[in-house]
Amino acid sequence: MFYSEDVLAEVRMGNDIVDVIGEYVKLKKSGANYFGLCPFHNEKTPSFSVSPEKQIYRCFGCGAGGNVFRFIEQKENLTFPETVEYLAKRINYTLPENNSKADAYRREIKQQLWDIHKSAARFYYECLNADMGAEARAYLDKRGVQPNIRKKFGLGYSPDSWQSLNEHLLNEGFEQDMILKSGLVNGSNSGRYYDKFRNRLMFPIIDVYGHIIGFGGRQLRDNKEEAKYLNSPDTEIFNKSFNPYNLNYAKLSNKREFILVEGYMDVISLYQAGFKNAVAALGTAFNQNHASVLHRYTQNIIVLFDSDSAGENAALRALPVLREEGIAARVLQVRDAKDPDEYIKSYGAEAFAKLLQTAVNSTMFRIEHEKKKYSLDNIDDKIALTNDIVAILAETENPLELDLYIRDVSKQIGVSPEAILSEVNRIQGYKKQMPSGSGNGLGKSVKNVQVDNALEDAKSGVISIVAYDKNLFESVERIFDKKEFLDELYIKLYSVIEKLHEQNIPAQAADIVTCLNGETSELQSRAASILMAQLSYDSDEERRRALSDDLKVIKLNYIDKMMDEAENDEEVQRLLQQKKNVENIIKSL
Ligand SMILES: [Zn+2]
Repeated sequence: MFYSEDVLAEVRMGNDIVDVIGEYVKLKKSGANYFGLCPFHNEKTPSFSVSPEKQIYRCFGCGAGGNVFRFIEQKENLTFPETVEYLAKRINYTLPENNSKADAYRREIKQQLWDIHKSAARFYYECLNADMGAEARAYLDKRGVQPNIRKKFGLGYSPDSWQSLNEHLLNEGFEQDMILKSGLVNGSNSGRYYDKFRNRLMFPIIDVYGHIIGFGGRQLRDNKEEAKYLNSPDTEIFNKSFNPYNLNYAKLSNKREFILVEGYMDVISLYQAGFKNAVAALGTAFNQNHASVLHRYTQNIIVLFDSDSAGENAALRALPVLREEGIAARVLQVRDAKDPDEYIKSYGAEAFAKLLQTAVNSTMFRIEHEKKKYSLDNIDDKIALTNDIVAILAETENPLELDLYIRDVSKQIGVSPEAILSEVNRIQGYKKQMPSGSGNGLGKSVKNVQVDNALEDAKSGVISIVAYDKNLFESVERIFDKKEFLDELYIKLYSVIEKLHEQNIPAQAADIVTCLNGETSELQSRAASILMAQLSYDSDEERRRALSDDLKVIKLNYIDKMMDEAENDEEVQRLLQQKKNVENIIKSL
């Protein structure tokens, strides 16, 4: 791990979770815990709770959970080491020098690359406002980009020359090999260097911390031999897939819904009209990485694309990506103008705000799109269309929502609601029979789900008792093997508790979560939820009894599972014997 456990514990304890989360969420005390509206999903009644005693949080709506590190990691989109630094800084805690030379070196390189980009941005900005920037300024004038907005976005101009940026950066004292690493200057075989961006309008790309990490450059004169838009290559500080344009400002807009648009100029013109929550994917199609970065800041996105068919197709491609990420999407296609910029110019910001309200949900948008492909006068077409629509509707799990769609569609295509519903049900039923794998539990019978719950309760019961009671933990150790959990999460949790007890560190919920920091966020959230459970027992005796019952459930389940997998009679007999013996073993607890 990056920092030692005691350093992590000190940083964590210095940052009381109620204070830290209180800076983002309005919390109200109720009983032992605090409650508020979850910052990770949209809700109207609070299901997000914070335990001051355990120093962990948990949302019962979306499942988010963890300790103070996890909260900041998710909320500020930081890596674990960055989170530790962030929280150390918050309490003026001096972290020990990082002794890993490789890390220090990497950080030094990043810092230099940020510095190079900052210097380049200043250079481009000055060029825009010098004589040579006349053509670029004329373009911005034509597009109606106001001076304050040019400054806000740091717009610039890259001169029509091969060397001017390289020379500028060398004069500023940067080394040639670092300049090459920035991707803003290329080297040739003949040992010469030339600027990547020439005679272009320049858009700095800024990350959520305010570092300039790359540029986009737009051609000023149509030249078919070169790309209209050129972007920085991926470097140590820039990855196109993880850095949507304008996320830095969109994040500050405090809007619950972001607008996804096609390009730089759309973002800028929306910003100028007061819509600061627009973002764009740059130089690459909108993908899962973009979606996951955006998901840290919003649950809702309006996909807003140009009015042409390329725009419509881009929207159709973005929808499954958003769906996969769990972001609710609506779609808006600009009509009466070719793009949002032109729309705002022609009809004004107020009309645009109204237009935004007409965005349709993604299911309706996809249905509309299907309808365009077929004619409704012809029976074959009508059947084909109905099948396509049914396939889309079958993805809707909410029965109420489904009912509304079906009524609507039935009217539009003249097929009875009953017929559509029965077809949707058939497809959904078929899907449910398929091996789930995705863990959505759809394929399980009710009985199985109940058994799973009892087992799950037993497992979390054991964890939440042994974590805080070393004596009971030692008793359990004698009669229980953690592999009997048959669940990676519980085995990991138990190992962490084992380690903490061995070192005589009183196991605290929040420290247990810290020890899981390399694990997936799903695992960490589940861990927080288990540790959050407030089980109170009237007496030690009662607690011991609960523990016995839980262990029994787990052990019997384990033996049953082994029997399912037993390869011969002998083994089955042995397991049966074990099963009979469980009661006795438990008694010795
Ligand atoms: Zn939530």
